[in-house]
Amino acid sequence: MGALLLGKPVSDRIRAEVGAEIARLAPHAPYPPGLAVILVGNDPASAIYVRNKQRACEKVGIHSVSRLLPSDTGELTLLACIEEFNEDPHIHGILVQLPLPSPEHEATAIESIAPLKDVDGFHPLNVAKLFEGRPYLVPSTPAGILELLALHQVPIVDSRVVIIGASNIVGKPLALCILHHGAVVTICHKYTRDLAAISREADILVTAVGRQKLVTADMVKPGAVVVDVGITLVDGHAVGDVDFAPVAEKASLLTPVPGGVGPLTIALLLANTLKAYKTILGLA
Ligand code: NAD
Repeated sequence: MGALLLGKPVSDRIRAEVGAEIARLAPHAPYPPGLAVILVGNDPASAIYVRNKQRACEKVGIHSVSRLLPSDTGELTLLACIEEFNEDPHIHGILVQLPLPSPEHEATAIESIAPLKDVDGFHPLNVAKLFEGRPYLVPSTPAGILELLALHQVPIVDSRVVIIGASNIVGKPLALCILHHGAVVTICHKYTRDLAAISREADILVTAVGRQKLVTADMVKPGAVVVDVGITLVDGHAVGDVDFAPVAEKASLLTPVPGGVGPLTIALLLANTLKAYKTILGLA
């Protein structure tokens, strides 16, 4: 039976480091770091994420502001709200909670965030920087997975990494990050034929799809490290993409759901907000 790759110890360490760094900088800075979260509509899951982000900010000394807009908010109103935070010197990170009730507004909203304040790392300029291998703000889920692998000293150079899921927020940025760390990377998606033959090659297998039991034991090489990003709600409980018990018999390390990758996402958002703050204020 493989060991569990737990996110909480890594998340706790990152949060403590962010809090300590903010305290260290306080005497040298005119104001604390600020994060603005814009939530459009009243999706209950999104409201919980926003509240959790606010609480996490308070604990490390980040001033957080949330702006709740009605679900029928027009694009111009949303862009005006983003612009207000772009101009606000007390705000160093801006996040538009996705998905938006009008998904057609998402690309314009992301492109309107000042790239220096784009703590989700979704702005095309930050995507381009990641593409070029000189990242500024990296999306928090891929960044968290790298922290998790580093803490557990999982070798990446020349390892075979297979990523199932090719989204802009997880699969693609993770592939770029891990490629720059020297791995041989394969990205799979819903059109990939014979997924099992590819996934069995992986020293590190990451799945980010959102489909229960997509990854079964026969798809995993003995001794592989398996990272499960997927979240599906089954009877009100979160489950991952991995058929947990049989895969745990084969993997050397495996992230549980919940408790694996999840806790890292907010921790890395705090770290990104601190990075944006230091960059904008020129703090070392
Ligand atoms: P998405 O819907 O944008 O992308 C899903 C990807 O999976 C696509 O590339 C699609 O081609 C691929 N896919 C779909 N069916 C497939 C199949 N049968 N075989 C192989 N590939 C298939 O999703 P996303 O936003 O990247 O999120 C993926 C999952 O990760 C979701 O369950 C989401 O809730 C979860 N998630 C978790 C965290 C976290 O912090 N733990 C963060 C982000 C996303």
